[in-house]
Amino acid sequence: MGGKNLIEVKNLKKYFKVGKNSVLKAVDDVSFNIKRGETLGLVGESGCGKTTCGRTILGLYAATSGQVLFNGSDIHKLDKKKKIEFTKKAQIIFQDPYASLNPRMTIGDIIGEGIDIHNLYKGKERMEKIYKLLQVVGLNKEHVSRFPHEFSGGQRQRIGIARALAIEPEFIVCDEPISALDVSIQAQVVNLLIRLQEEFKLTYLFIAHDLSMVKHISDRVGVMYLGTMVELADSKELYDKPLHPYTKALLSAIPIPDPNIAKNKERIMLEGEVPSPINPNPGCRFASRCAYAKDECFKSRPEFKEVDKNHFVACHLI
Ligand code: SF4
Repeated sequence: MGGKNLIEVKNLKKYFKVGKNSVLKAVDDVSFNIKRGETLGLVGESGCGKTTCGRTILGLYAATSGQVLFNGSDIHKLDKKKKIEFTKKAQIIFQDPYASLNPRMTIGDIIGEGIDIHNLYKGKERMEKIYKLLQVVGLNKEHVSRFPHEFSGGQRQRIGIARALAIEPEFIVCDEPISALDVSIQAQVVNLLIRLQEEFKLTYLFIAHDLSMVKHISDRVGVMYLGTMVELADSKELYDKPLHPYTKALLSAIPIPDPNIAKNKERIMLEGEVPSPINPNPGCRFASRCAYAKDECFKSRPEFKEVDKNHFVACHLI
């Protein structure tokens, strides 16, 4: 995909102060871009900073330092008017379809809220827009006056998607949109997102904690570990030729349906838990769990460098 960048993230840091002397480095010097019309998958275990990264890109958190450029403008330096324009162009789909919909609002009002805030359509036009949105996400007109509790998890996520689409955004952060759903429903939601991307020319940042479903939707995939980006490559390249020890371990954990292939596959077990992002060590964040770690790994942080065309990795051994 050779289009123009819609999003450019440059040396982004998002730190949270914890107590008097501690700092939680949720996102620590992360850089990447997302081209218009592209889906960038962002994966890593919980606590790796991917959700904080997505929210800082949307301006929901102020950046500690670094830049997030949307169409060339730094979203953390926009004046009030431009900020409102940006919030119309960039939306989020949340992880938990049960918690993210107001239980006291009808589906019509949930989807219509953004339309009203941005004053996009009124009266009959507004209702027609809501009916159309229900239809594009696979629901129907009759659902408009119902409440969230009357729907299944998959249907609620479709409502969340319709709400995000209501104000005709260009960019959507899909924040683990399938993690809370049954496996049987996950593929349906991913297929819906792919269809909507083509129909509405959307750009996605697709956040997930495992690599299995991300493969089907992402053009490129970035792997995060403890606030840092450890590897970024075209989707196929990352799955066929992972380089970073952490990416290899994540990929080896994906179940393979064919038992003949599965029996020849070696599972790389990660020792221990993800360490705390509070006051992390100065070296490679993965060092405490890496089978290849040497002295240098605990002292200096490896540079995130391009080792093959469009394939970036942060490891002293590569
Ligand atoms: Fe392992 Fe060292 Fe590479 Fe980090 S830099 S992944 S600790 S070998």
